[in-house]
Amino acid sequence: MLNTEAFNNLKKLSSVRQKEVFCPLIKTRAITSPLKVADDLSIKSAIVSPDLYDLNISKMIYENVMFPDLTNKLSFEEFINNTSYIDRQVLLWGILFSTYKTLGKQQIICSECNNKFEDEVTLESIIQKDSITLWDQEESFKDHNYLIEEKIEDIDTINRIVFNTGIPTIADHLEVLRLITTEKLKENFEKFNSLTTKSEDLATVTRSISVYKTEDDKAPDIFSTARDVHHVIHSYLLMDFCEDVFSKYNTQFSKYLPAFKKPYVCSKCNKNFNFNVDMEVALLRHYFR
Ligand SMILES: [Zn+2]
Repeated sequence: MLNTEAFNNLKKLSSVRQKEVFCPLIKTRAITSPLKVADDLSIKSAIVSPDLYDLNISKMIYENVMFPDLTNKLSFEEFINNTSYIDRQVLLWGILFSTYKTLGKQQIICSECNNKFEDEVTLESIIQKDSITLWDQEESFKDHNYLIEEKIEDIDTINRIVFNTGIPTIADHLEVLRLITTEKLKENFEKFNSLTTKSEDLATVTRSISVYKTEDDKAPDIFSTARDVHHVIHSYLLMDFCEDVFSKYNTQFSKYLPAFKKPYVCSKCNKNFNFNVDMEVALLRHYFR
């Protein structure tokens, strides 16, 4: 049996490929390490049972990230309850950078004239000056609530609906994903190239929904579990209503979403456009190939 020293020596293999990133919402440095074969297997098995997908990816990220400025090592529970879903995307970028350096050849399509061509897209090339926006509110992202009020006309028993929204933690996102069936998740991915639809996205950012029956209702009906919030949005609210709430949410929070993008100038129509990358989808793509 080899001594620990021998295994410690092997650790250098991954340490040379470490990358430092800055988590924009929790405002902490993180060091990401490359994926290993064991991680590879856990992602592959996560695809077989997609309901565990988000959890496994979060575990994989947790295992491959170090926070040098935190004095105590976070437990997995602490990590998912205190880190925003936005930070997770940045961490994922760091891990993919450490592991692959590139997303490989991608099909690029001009947004103006549909001109198609192939190009190698490196992880480095999708970070622009304005890609990352640091959290700039006084309270932490977890304490920061943004109320969105929608007046209801024509219904006697509902005066208004108030959404208490904010930036979700990794755990919040996980809870909503648990409510979606495996089939639905696959369908979303195939149809919309994303894991979730509008109603799930809105449920993820909504901490509670209050329904006021009258103008001065002192005891509104409050829906505050992920399951109830998702159910209200999914089963009772109309599409345009949700879109309106979501666009109000976006005016406040979309600037914090990391914009991973590579700029191009179309060789046919000369228009400038961006090739946008969703980190989550990029990771899945890698395994679907
Ligand atoms: Zn073009």
